[in-house]
Amino acid sequence: MDLDQIRPQPSGRPIPVRRKQTVGIDLGTTNTVVARNFEALSLDSGGYVMPSAVAFPPSGATLVGQPARRRRAMDPKNTILSAKRVIGARWHSSYTAQFREHYPYDMRESSDGGIEIQTRAGITSPVDVGGTIVSGLCRLTRCPVRGVHAVVTAPVGFDQRRRDATAVAVAKAQFASVQVVEEPIATALAYLNRSSLKYAFVYDLGGGTFDAAVVDCSSYPFRVIGHGGDPYLGGDDVDRTIALYVAERTLARDGWDLSNDAVTFDRLVNACELAKCELSESEEAAIAIPSVDPAAPESCGIIPITRDEVRQLTLDLVRSTFGICDEVLAQASLKARDMQAVFLAGGSTRLPGVVEYIESYFGKRPRSDLDPMQVVGLGASLAAARPAVSELLSIPAPEPR
Ligand code: AMP
Repeated sequence: MDLDQIRPQPSGRPIPVRRKQTVGIDLGTTNTVVARNFEALSLDSGGYVMPSAVAFPPSGATLVGQPARRRRAMDPKNTILSAKRVIGARWHSSYTAQFREHYPYDMRESSDGGIEIQTRAGITSPVDVGGTIVSGLCRLTRCPVRGVHAVVTAPVGFDQRRRDATAVAVAKAQFASVQVVEEPIATALAYLNRSSLKYAFVYDLGGGTFDAAVVDCSSYPFRVIGHGGDPYLGGDDVDRTIALYVAERTLARDGWDLSNDAVTFDRLVNACELAKCELSESEEAAIAIPSVDPAAPESCGIIPITRDEVRQLTLDLVRSTFGICDEVLAQASLKARDMQAVFLAGGSTRLPGVVEYIESYFGKRPRSDLDPMQVVGLGASLAAARPAVSELLSIPAPEPR
C-alpha cells in the first residue's frame, strides 16, 4: 500500500492513509495531454497528444481525437473543434461572438446564459465536449480516474466561471477531485522543477492561440505578474498560409485549383501541417498532390517545400507575437533583459526560425528542452503531486453523478 502519512487514532494506533493518486491535464484548444508524475501518458495509437476534437457521425457513434478531427471538412457542423475557446463563456460575450464568426456550428444561448450546440446527436455544450475529450483521452491512455485527483490548466485570462467550467469538464471523466492551475505557472513549474529564479517569461505558441506571461518564480506559489495573447493566432494559420501558397503554385504550374473544394483544401491543409512538422528535422519536404486530390491530373505530381520558404511564410506571424510580448513586459514593469529565463510551450515554437527570433528579442536562448506540446501537462502533474508549489485556483462543486 502507498502510504503518505500515518494519522494517530485516539487509541494511539496509527491509521494508514492511502496517498491519493494524482494526474495533470492540459485541456488545450488544439490538443489535450494527460501526465502523471512528470511523465506524459501515451495513447494506444502512439504519441502523447490527442486532438481536442469530438465528432458525431451519422452512424450514431461519438468519435474523439484524431478520427474526429479527420471529419472536420466533410461534416463541419457535427465536428466540434476548439471548444475551449468558449468553455464557460457567456452567450453575450466577445468570446462567443468571435467564435461564431470562425466556426459553423448551430449555436444558441443556453438556459444558464452559456452556449448550446445543436448537433446530429442532440444538444451539447463546450463543457460536455471538454468532458468527452478528457474521458476519451483517459480511456486511450488507460489513465485511472476513480479516486484520482486531477489538476487541469487554464489560461490566465479565464475568469472564475470559465475556470470552473474547465474543472467541471474534467470532473465529467469521473475524477475524485479537480483543481485548476494557470497555464504559464504549469510551464514554469515544469522547466524549473526544483530549481528557482526570479522572473521567467513563458512564450506559448500553440495550434490556435498565442499566450505570453511573466511569472514571478522567486517563491512558492509562483505568480503571473503580466499576461496577454492573441486567441486566434497559431499553427493553424501557418498551415493555411502554406496551403494557399501550394495551391497558388499548383494553379500556376499545372492549371489545377486545389482551393475550390472545402474537403480537398482541408486535405491540403493537413498535408501542409505534416510537411511543416517534417521541416523541423529536415531542410525540405514534399507535398504529393495526388494524395491530396485523387482527381488531379498526373502532371501535378509533387510540390517541394523548403524550411526557408516556411520561415519566410511565417515571418509576419512570429513578428506579431513580439508586439504582445512588449505589452506583457510593460504590464509587469519589466524589460526583456530582466527575464532570467524564457520558457517555450506550444507545438508552434518548433517552427523554423522561431527560437532564433525569440533569442534575439530577449537576448538569451529560450529553454526548449521539454517537449513544447507536453510541457503544460507535465507542469500540471507536478502541481497535482506537490500542492504546495502552486496556488490551485478553484475547487468546483463536483458534478452530480
Ligand atoms: P499545441 O497547441 O501546443 O498542441 O500545438 C499544436 C500546434 O503545433 C499545431 O499547429 C502543430 O502543427 C504544431 N506543431 C507540432 N509539431 C510541430 C513542428 N515540429 N514544427 C512546427 N509546428 C509543429
